[in-house]
Amino acid sequence: MTADALPHFTHYIDGQDVPPATGSYFETQNPFSGEAWAMVARGDAADVDRAVKAAHKAFESGPWSEMSATRRGEILFRLSELLAQNAAALAEVEMRDNGKLAAEVTSQVRYVADYFRYYAGLADKVESHVIPTDKKGVTCFTRYEAKGVVAIITPWNSPLTLTSWKLAPALAAGCTAVIKPSEFTSPSAVLFARLFKEAGFPDGVVNVVTGLGAEAGEPLVTHPLVAHVGFTGGELAGQKIYEAAARGLKTVTLELGGKSPNIVFDDADLDQAVKGVVSGIFAAAGQTCIAGSRLLVQASIHDAFVERLIDFVKDARLGDPADPQTRIGPIATRPQFDKILGYLDIARAEGARCVLGGRARPDLGAGWFVEPTIFTGVNNGMRIAQEEVFGPVLSVIPFEDEADAIRIGNDVQYGLAAGVWTQSLHRAMLMSSKLRAGTVWINNYRATSFTTPFGGYKRSGIGRESGVEAIKEYLETKSVWISTDLDVPNPFVRR
Ligand code: NAD
Repeated sequence: MTADALPHFTHYIDGQDVPPATGSYFETQNPFSGEAWAMVARGDAADVDRAVKAAHKAFESGPWSEMSATRRGEILFRLSELLAQNAAALAEVEMRDNGKLAAEVTSQVRYVADYFRYYAGLADKVESHVIPTDKKGVTCFTRYEAKGVVAIITPWNSPLTLTSWKLAPALAAGCTAVIKPSEFTSPSAVLFARLFKEAGFPDGVVNVVTGLGAEAGEPLVTHPLVAHVGFTGGELAGQKIYEAAARGLKTVTLELGGKSPNIVFDDADLDQAVKGVVSGIFAAAGQTCIAGSRLLVQASIHDAFVERLIDFVKDARLGDPADPQTRIGPIATRPQFDKILGYLDIARAEGARCVLGGRARPDLGAGWFVEPTIFTGVNNGMRIAQEEVFGPVLSVIPFEDEADAIRIGNDVQYGLAAGVWTQSLHRAMLMSSKLRAGTVWINNYRATSFTTPFGGYKRSGIGRESGVEAIKEYLETKSVWISTDLDVPNPFVRR
C-alpha cells in the first residue's frame, strides 16, 4: 500500500485534529508484519508551541480554570466510562503498533479506565491543613494548587498505561497537558485524546503532539509555559530531559530503566516461583521496565530450578499477538530487535552459557521475533547482568545465602523493582528492607495498581507515580498567613 493510502493521524490540539505545520508525516509499523500500517504527523517546535499555548490558555482562563474539583472528578468519571467502552478498539490499535499480546493489551487498557476512576474520586479529596504556628495573632493554612501545563512523554512498551499514570493525577490536580507519545506507537494517544472532548473536558485541557524526540519532545520540555515534565523511557533520554528541565528549573517525574533481581530461595514454593520468574521476564517479550531480568537462584537448587524453567518455557509459542494461542509476541521496534540481538552476542562473548533460545526467528515471517533466552554461568559483573536489554533474555546468577543475595541484588546502578520467593517470614521481611528498589514483590511479581506508589531508586528514576501521593507531583503547596490581630506591629519599634 502506498503511504498516501494509509490512514493519517494528525496532532490533537485545542479539541481538534490539527495537521502538522510542515505538512510532514512518518510511517508507523506493525512489528508482526514488519509493514507500515499508518502515517503519523511529524511535529516540530511550531506544533508544540500551538499545543502548549492551548493548554496554557485552558489552564489560565475558561471553564477548566473555574471548575470545582468535584466537577473535575465527575468528568474524569465520565472519561473512565468512555475508556471502558472503547478499550477493545484502543487495545487493537496498541497491539498493531507494539505487538503486545491481545489478552495483555486489552486488560491493560481496561485497567486504564480504572486508573481514571481512582483519580476521579481523589480530585476533591486533597485537603488543606491549618498549621499551628509559633507566631501570635495569625492563622496559617496550606493550599494545594495545580502546577500548570504538564508535558507527558511516553515510550512504546505500554503507551496508554504509562500516559495515564501521569495524566490521571495531573488532571485530578487541575493541571492541563500536552502528550508526546513515542514515535513508534502514536495513534492510540490521538484516538484516546478525542475521548476527552466527548467526556466533557474543555478544549485545550488535553493535547497530543506526535513526532520524534529531538524534534517534538525537546521543544516541549524546554517550552517556557511548561511547568512539569512526566517521562517514562530510556535512561539516555531521561538524562537529557532532566538536564533540559533543570535549565528551566522545572520539576520532573522520571521512570527509567531497571535490571531487577528475581530472587529464589531454596525454601520457596518452586511451582509458584517458576511461574513468577517466567512472567517476570517473558511477558511482553521482556520489554518492560520492571522485567526480572536477573534470576538470582540459591546455589543448592540452581540446576534443578533452571531445568524447571526450561521445561516451562521451551514450547511457548511465538507468533501473531492477536492469536490467543501465542505466548510470546514480536519485539516492538526494529532498533529494539537489533539491540537485543547485539546483547545475545555480548553475553556469549562474555562467556555466559545459552541454555535456551538465543536466536532471532526469521522463519516466523517478516516480524521481529527473538526466542525466549536463558543464560547461565553469568556473574553479576558482566554487561548482560548490568545493562538493560529490554527483551526476552534472562541471566541466571547463583547465590549462597541472604547476605550474598542482597549484595548481588543491589549491585547494579538501577533500583526499580525486585522479587523474592521464600516461605520464611523472616527472609521476606529482611529482603524487603535491604533491597534498594522502589517495589519489592514477595512471592509474586509484576503487580502494579493505581492505589500503590511506583518508582525507582538510584538510576531508575525520580518521583513516584500512582497512589495518593502521585497527585502531589502535580501540585504546588502554598502557605497562606492571615492576621487575626488587626494591630500590625510597627516595624521600627522593637517589642
Ligand atoms: P526513549 O527513551 O528514547 O524514548 C521515550 C520517549 O522519549 C519517546 O516519546 C521519545 O520520542 C522521547 N524522547 C527521546 N529523546 C528525547 C529528548 N531528548 N527530549 C524529549 N523527548 C525525548 O525510548 P526508546 O527509543 O523508545 O527506547 C530506548 C531504550 O529505552 C530501550 O532500548 C529501552 O531499554 C528503554 N525503554 C525503557 C522504558 C521504560 O519503561 N523504562 C520504556 C521504553 C524504552
